[in-house]
Amino acid sequence: MVDSRDISEELKTPVYFDEDADLQVLAGPIAVIGYGNQGKAQALNLKDSGLEVVVGNIHDEYCDLAKRDGFEVLDIREAAVKANIILFLIPDELQPSIFEEQIKPALKKDKVLCFASGYNITFETISVRKDVDIILVAPRMIGRGVRESYVNGKGFYTFIGVHNNASGRAMDVALAIAKGIGSTKPGGAVLEVTFRQEAELDLFNEQCFGPAFGQVLTCAVDVAIEAGYPPEVVLLELYMSGEFAYTAEMIAKMGTLKQLELHSPTSQYGSMSRGMRYASPELREAMKQSLREIQNGSFAKEFAAEYEMDLEILDDMKEMAQDIPVVYFDDAVRKKLNKNRE
Ligand code: NDP
Repeated sequence: MVDSRDISEELKTPVYFDEDADLQVLAGPIAVIGYGNQGKAQALNLKDSGLEVVVGNIHDEYCDLAKRDGFEVLDIREAAVKANIILFLIPDELQPSIFEEQIKPALKKDKVLCFASGYNITFETISVRKDVDIILVAPRMIGRGVRESYVNGKGFYTFIGVHNNASGRAMDVALAIAKGIGSTKPGGAVLEVTFRQEAELDLFNEQCFGPAFGQVLTCAVDVAIEAGYPPEVVLLELYMSGEFAYTAEMIAKMGTLKQLELHSPTSQYGSMSRGMRYASPELREAMKQSLREIQNGSFAKEFAAEYEMDLEILDDMKEMAQDIPVVYFDDAVRKKLNKNRE
């Protein structure tokens, strides 16, 4: 167990704010490759921060959207040739082949390749020449939130990192991009991490925290329905009303313990007096096993094989999940409750 009282030595991660970043280091056009969730939001924010942005995308509706939003849109390779700083914002699983075919030929000394995820560098599915800066600017926020925060003058949290510092100023560039996309506006901050930390923790969140929580929800729904409570009422009580989502938001804003003050004494006493019943050594062991598979690269290998098979196993697992009560009741309950909203 981590000793929670001895924390001063633990908090060593460098944190940066607006005054630490300088947009002047971003000379010349920036290529945003991909105009999806992150691409669109980051391209618009960089443009609104006064920076020159060109979008690299294949010719389809995302391309038309980027043109409508006022961008010059080029083929991916042309955009990568034109810019010194390249933000690689297409899905991680597609990056290795697109990198080989279109980005790699455009890279030359002193260019900067910026990722929004540490995955492909950490698990060595992309390897880049040594005289190029390789940096990470990974918002902890979905694309829509990145744009909405910027428009509302609010900052958000972003991880930045440097994998290759050929120019000697890679960290300054990463910080400036984080500022350009709006992360350092009021309320935001930038934390320095390694590519490995970002990639592994992101997977840890997806493979441990998220699904463990999913199992808790599944179990709670089963127990309550089995005990005779009506499914509509159970689903509404546990998550569908949005009350739980609000509590999660308050945990982020106020802290796990402090947000308890928003709840009644009955709720506080009940939750604290019963909480330890669910602290399970098996859960801890299962999380450690998943983390080991992330750290030793076996998950990345397994996923690469699954991707080669067109995500066949994933499709099967989604099919099987249809039989879980929380899933099959969800649709029906939603339809019944949302009648007036359609
Ligand atoms: P999206 O799925 O939104 O990316 C879509 C973009 O990728 C579109 O421009 C699409 O173009 C392009 N694309 C898809 N297939 C191809 C292809 N075969 N060839 C060329 N271009 C293609 O990605 P995200 O924005 O979700 O993720 C981008 C990066 O940001 C990833 O590294 C991700 O890990 C990271 N990230 C994502 C977050 C999120 O909230 N989603 C949060 C933080 C980081 P088209 O459809 O026109 O082909």
